[in-house]
Amino acid sequence: MLTRILLITLLLAAPARADELANQLFGAMSDPSRQDPMPVGSYSKGCAAGLAELPETGTTWQAMRLSRGRNFGQPVMIDFLTELSATARDIGFGQGLYIGDISQPRGGPMTSGHASHQIGLDADIWMLPPRSLSLSEAEREAISSIPVRSADQRSVTENWTKVHHALLKAAASDPRVDRIFVAAAVKIEMCKTAKNKDKKWLQKIRPVAGHDTHFHVRLKCPKGARLCETQTPTVAVLSKNGDGCDETLMWWVTDYLNPPKSDGKKPKDEDPPRKKGARELTLADLPKQCQDVLAAD
Ligand SMILES: [Zn+2]
Repeated sequence: MLTRILLITLLLAAPARADELANQLFGAMSDPSRQDPMPVGSYSKGCAAGLAELPETGTTWQAMRLSRGRNFGQPVMIDFLTELSATARDIGFGQGLYIGDISQPRGGPMTSGHASHQIGLDADIWMLPPRSLSLSEAEREAISSIPVRSADQRSVTENWTKVHHALLKAAASDPRVDRIFVAAAVKIEMCKTAKNKDKKWLQKIRPVAGHDTHFHVRLKCPKGARLCETQTPTVAVLSKNGDGCDETLMWWVTDYLNPPKSDGKKPKDEDPPRKKGARELTLADLPKQCQDVLAAD
């Protein structure tokens, strides 16, 4: 009888919930689900089961902006970040790493910022080398990272150092990493000293808008994660098996900044239908397993 009532309740509740905005539902969760770890769906349309919390402070890192509650990631991400932070300290990037947003406790779309970061496999790392790892919670809200890209977007600033280069190389060389997003000027700078042997890791460093005060690491789907959707095209395809130091990179400091005038002839209806933004996704838009992630203990 009880199961029957439960079933009826679920059936009645489900459609209404399916229509609800996913960022409201996932943004309201304060704890990870007690499930086996699993990235569900894609980086920009999904959720995450069984996430782990990045401890707020470690021997070589601090999690920043704790009020946002986004220091949760897949176990593989937490391992990656703690290991990279030790490397950061060893190569002289201050005392380790300041780590920004990873994911919400159960992943999913967010109420502010980020189209991605939904499955626990994305993390933002500050370009500011940590001088202290004993910042208070309030200090971690107040301080800001530093821009390594000039205001005109064309070059790096004096904040960019060889140690930044070494840190990004170390991160991109990690086999768990799928790609890393940086401001185009950063990649252009890294391309200046590129050798043939750098191709494999350098092709993982991808230019994107913004990202002047942090870099964004995206991990591959872990082995056996059957609900996780790998990103395509791969970085090898995007860079045509090269290092990505090519005209598609230079586009960011030419046509992107000064768009050529269009001839205005293209009819409107040739535009592809606009995809929903992260903040417009409803629960029904996400993989159905995300309903279990929300409902789990
Ligand atoms: Zn990011």
